[in-house]
Amino acid sequence: MNLFKGEFCTGCGVCVSESEQVIKMDWDEYGFLKPVTIDGAIPRAAMKVCPFNPEPEAVVADEDQLAAIFLGQATKRDAEIGCFEGTYIGYSRQFRNSSSSGGIATYLFKQLLQEKIVDHLYVVREVKGGYEYQLFSNVEDIKRTSKTRYIPITLEKLFTEINKIEGRIAVSGVACFIKAIRLKQYYYPDLKNKIPFLIGIICGGWKSRFFTDFLAQHAGISGSYHNQQYRIKDANSMASDYSFGAYDEMDVFYQMKMSTVGDMWGSGLFKSKACDFCTDVLTELADVSLGDAWLPEYRTDGLGNSVIVTRTSLADQLIKKGILNGDLELNMVNKDKIIESQRPSFLHRQNGLKLRMRHAKSRGYVLPYVRKRMLKSISIVYSIVQLQRQVTREKSLRYWRSTPSLEAFHYKMYKELKRLRLVTRIYHKMRKLKML
Ligand SMILES: Cc1cc2nc3c(=O)[nH]c(=O)nc-3n(C[C@H](O)[C@H](O)[C@H](O)COP(=O)(O)OP(=O)(O)OC[C@H]3O[C@@H](n4cnc5c(N)ncnc54)[C@H](O)[C@@H]3O)c2cc1C
Repeated sequence: MNLFKGEFCTGCGVCVSESEQVIKMDWDEYGFLKPVTIDGAIPRAAMKVCPFNPEPEAVVADEDQLAAIFLGQATKRDAEIGCFEGTYIGYSRQFRNSSSSGGIATYLFKQLLQEKIVDHLYVVREVKGGYEYQLFSNVEDIKRTSKTRYIPITLEKLFTEINKIEGRIAVSGVACFIKAIRLKQYYYPDLKNKIPFLIGIICGGWKSRFFTDFLAQHAGISGSYHNQQYRIKDANSMASDYSFGAYDEMDVFYQMKMSTVGDMWGSGLFKSKACDFCTDVLTELADVSLGDAWLPEYRTDGLGNSVIVTRTSLADQLIKKGILNGDLELNMVNKDKIIESQRPSFLHRQNGLKLRMRHAKSRGYVLPYVRKRMLKSISIVYSIVQLQRQVTREKSLRYWRSTPSLEAFHYKMYKELKRLRLVTRIYHKMRKLKML
């Protein structure tokens, strides 16, 4: 059995459901879950549900077409937001403290179960100290499903598991996972009834397992770790001033502020290559999209606030009902606030795409199909930033694979990260002076 050689795969695992005898998921050398087949190729039939398919069927080729099929009833449309009903910012009174951000995902999942809109959830939970997608149905215990996990997980088993159970299921996922589920629903329309609600987790990049190894070492753990927590809030500080923590082999808990490790998101460290070819910033294909309110007016609230985009009338009703009965402390906001909260992601993912496509093509890659309207020209300075981000992303994975030690990694990455900081500073200065 060989690992799939495709560079543009986040390991959603939905292809497995199309070819169970041929494909299974396994870890690759860079700490990502990838499909494995006899010859290292994914059968054409399975590629049809791949969110990074280079040759998709024309009618479902991209997010815009899928949105027209699944969210065509939405009353509003926007080039950056997608199809939508409402835009909100705030939190759940009951779940914010024990959640990653405003606790809206946990709140909505609870309502979906309580109101019998679905019978089960397919969410990411702890298993033997790690994290995996699992079925969950116990509404009383809903807090056990809270918090987002930044380690590879896969939907490999979703479609076999739901075939075995009665009832309907709600699923949470980042944009590419949600796209794969929509593709599956397009080819198997019965699945629309079986999975009537999708919660989209706005994603700034899919991280390798190396990311967590790196954080655990930074926190002071030298061996293996378990039950890691990625978003430990500090109510007395800023929303972005959260901590990472994990238990070592002796069950001692180690914790450190994420601010001590530097920029892990803008630099692209340990990120999947596929993410640089995903144009969906706001999980445009979910029923509701949830992210962090990275906005000046919310930054000082250490417990965090969620940005919310409802895309179906059901999602919007659930949110409005929560506001009316006092469960949710939310403000209805202008859509531009949501875009502003994810501005760096829009700039990188959409504006920088054309350059990255050209660069990858020149290196001989077969590229995923992308929305043509996203292809924009950028300044020379921003092109240099883009190219340097690619270097840091690639080298971070390569260096950690060869020497998974903090000291060696810092030593090897020092020059590249310094160069990235320098070109980014020049770029920001020029933008501020309106020279770009
Ligand atoms: C890889 C990744 C990148 C992210 N990048 C950004 C970003 O760039 N900008 C931004 O604003 N927000 C980002 N987020 C989302 C943000 O951090 C919050 O987690 C999100 O807004 C949900 O907050 P909440 O308090 O409503 O969720 P909670 O109430 O804490 O519930 C989270 C739900 O998500 C499920 N879950 C956990 N991990 C995953 C996973 N990996 N995939 C799918 N479901 C999962 C849990 O089971 C739970 O049901 C990212 C999340 C992830 C996982």
